[in-house]
Amino acid sequence: MNAFSQTATYATNAAQSRGRLVSETPSATRTAFQRDRDRIVHSGAFRKMRNKTQVFIESEGDYYRTRLTHSLEVAQIARSISRALGLDEDLTETIALAHDLGHPCFGHAGADGLAAAMEPYGGFNHNEQTFRILVELEKRYARFDGLNLTWETLEGVVKHNGPLDPHAIPPTLLEFNGTWDLELTSFASAEAQVAALSDDIAYNTHDIDDGHRAGFFRLEDLSALPLFGSALEKMRKLYPDTDRERLMYEAVRDVIGLIVDDVLAATQRNLDIMKPQSAEEIRYAAQPTVVFSEGMTAHIDVLRRFLRENMYRHSRINRICAKAQKIVRDLFDFFMQHPNCLPASWFDAVKACASEDNAKARIIADYIAGMTDRFAVQEHKKVFSTEAMI
Ligand code: MG
Repeated sequence: MNAFSQTATYATNAAQSRGRLVSETPSATRTAFQRDRDRIVHSGAFRKMRNKTQVFIESEGDYYRTRLTHSLEVAQIARSISRALGLDEDLTETIALAHDLGHPCFGHAGADGLAAAMEPYGGFNHNEQTFRILVELEKRYARFDGLNLTWETLEGVVKHNGPLDPHAIPPTLLEFNGTWDLELTSFASAEAQVAALSDDIAYNTHDIDDGHRAGFFRLEDLSALPLFGSALEKMRKLYPDTDRERLMYEAVRDVIGLIVDDVLAATQRNLDIMKPQSAEEIRYAAQPTVVFSEGMTAHIDVLRRFLRENMYRHSRINRICAKAQKIVRDLFDFFMQHPNCLPASWFDAVKACASEDNAKARIIADYIAGMTDRFAVQEHKKVFSTEAMI
């Protein structure tokens, strides 16, 4: 296992993909998963992530992560791990780039606002929304709605956080699964498992960087934290004369490297025991294959808690979140009452479902979830400011 690993026996093989729902002529120059990745990069939902919040409202500063830059960082980490494990790097990258497409405007606050509004109409969750974008909402192909991705990409996106609870499968997935079985209750491929862990690695490290830049905590506050405390200490000794900003970057870089090495070692231990001969053996195993060590899991939990207490629940963030939830809720209620104020194509969709409440609410949730932060703020102003009338 090294940076030049050959393809492993347990890697997903693009040439043996279970295919696409609508059959297409294979590309002469790209594998099925490379093609999936390209479709995601060219999608409208992908571009909109640049104006969607990760933790901060996008307008707060040019250096903070957005959903788009977060997804690129996840993909970068995921590819490195995938390559070292001999997995299909393209499939991993595809799943990493797609994993957050369904996040609505204003990050988790927007998702909470939509979940509350949609509670009587079948609920809202961002993973289901990602799936809706991939199989239905992107309309750029003449022959089908969605992106017509391979089975492996769809199952990876849907199950990247593990098997689904058979009693709590979101409506869109349940319906789709009746047509094409994504085997929702087994694990996803090792490639998808890598993408999921890379998400944890990326946000727990880059949020420390963003939070520090925004002044939620000082370097000194990080000294007592696992991973960061020792990384900072190490960098101070190595570079006693460097400034605090460079020290922080060196520490972040060091911590990412430590966690990646931990995943590779812990996963190799699993592989040595399991000796999987195929991607299927990874899927049908009783436990995940790609893992953090127990010690690292505990460290990451401490980081997560630190970020929650000092950043995600800081009064500055809470204020933005409260406003964001209000904007989402106001827009939802307004369009439920006045669907004829939706853009024409969306209103046509409402009319086509004969205003049946659940279907109507889902269309409005799709419309709002697709908004960028900036567009949602503008739309709220347009709809509710009486000054804007004149
Ligand atoms: Mg993410």
